[in-house]
Amino acid sequence: MPIPPSRNESAAGSLRERFQNRKGTSSRVFLAPGRVNLIGEHTDYNDGFVMPVAIDSYTWIAAAKRSDGVLSVCSEHFGESVQLPLTALAGPPRKHWSDYVRGVAAVLQSAGHKLMGADILIYSNVPLGAGLSSSASLEVASALALMAEASAHLSPLELAKLCQRAEHEYAGTRCGIMDQFVAVFGRARCALMLDCRSLEYQVLTLPAAVRIVICNSMVKHEHAAGEYNLRRADCENGVKVLQRLIPNVRALRDVSRADLEQHRGELAERVYRRCRHVVGENQRVLAAAEALRTQDLAALGNLMYQSHTSMRDDYEISCSQLDFLVDLAAGAEGVYGARMTGGGFGGCTVNLVRSDAVEDFQSRIGAGYRRKTGRNSEIYVCAAAQGAREWQSDGEP
Ligand code: ADP
Ligand code: MG
Repeated sequence: MPIPPSRNESAAGSLRERFQNRKGTSSRVFLAPGRVNLIGEHTDYNDGFVMPVAIDSYTWIAAAKRSDGVLSVCSEHFGESVQLPLTALAGPPRKHWSDYVRGVAAVLQSAGHKLMGADILIYSNVPLGAGLSSSASLEVASALALMAEASAHLSPLELAKLCQRAEHEYAGTRCGIMDQFVAVFGRARCALMLDCRSLEYQVLTLPAAVRIVICNSMVKHEHAAGEYNLRRADCENGVKVLQRLIPNVRALRDVSRADLEQHRGELAERVYRRCRHVVGENQRVLAAAEALRTQDLAALGNLMYQSHTSMRDDYEISCSQLDFLVDLAAGAEGVYGARMTGGGFGGCTVNLVRSDAVEDFQSRIGAGYRRKTGRNSEIYVCAAAQGAREWQSDGEP
């Protein structure tokens, strides 16, 4: 769970100490942030727009060279170590947490980087599997550590792309580029608006008077991965039909709302609604960027609510607990907007809350959610953070 920078700093310091105790040697420490997506859901794989924020929760990696060509990787979260010989990294997903590190090492090697063996100790305060992208933060921190140990160089964009490839090929998740991109390029106190086609991005300053608050429903739908792939298939299906009717359509990114309405009759009803979500969501991200530029928080908040409704009704990726968290937020004082965030079927909502209302918000949502569902929601008040880097013991993380 996200913790204040001062505690992050001590987390890194004590990770280094624990590494020293285990391995009897000093280490370098690397960190990469988790992220929350303010708006722009399921648009990334449609060549569209997203607006992620890197958050001040990180995966931390302490690493030191080994001379035997083995990656010896330990996750404190799982309390488990694995040995990965650099000569035997290839192979399909093993459905094990180490796939992410194995994948990063393998794609770095296949891109021509000569890696060294390393001892790697992983600590994370990004909640796993909650839609805050612990996986990308693990990949990016691993890549930084492996590259540094090998004294190799990689541009930030290459780094993000290789980590995405690692997740596709070694963890078996066909994710877009957003998570790895923001883990690398995140900026303190800012959101990024990323064009997932060109990979151009804009840095948008978040107003100081609001906080990003994340409410974890603590629910996870076991079919989420399968549903994700079904949504992708629906979008591909929509593109196939629409590109026969509209010139120059390569992805739903190229379809306007007017085009979609004009050709509605050619699409199966469900496919039409999936497309309507994506087309509308792209427009909402662009409008949200404009709202941030003009500091119009009411407009930004409304776009977030509209995004949630669209995901609930058209894209059908919400669930009752997420809907309830959004309804609770909408009724609370000082909330500009709320929506589910991430792949869906559980995970978290993201809320834009006036700074002076955050405390009340936390207690109100916590109590309301417990009363209704019998579950405790974990609530994280986040700061927008800088992207991945080596931790310098004399500076803020
Ligand atoms: P999310 O990225 O939203 O947190 P994912 O399912 O994409 O969810 O990634 C979560 C997976 O990433 C975990 O199940 C685990 O395999 C891996 N992972 C993330 N953080 C760690 C960690 N600290 N140690 C080991 N594995 C981790
Ligand atoms: Mg992930």
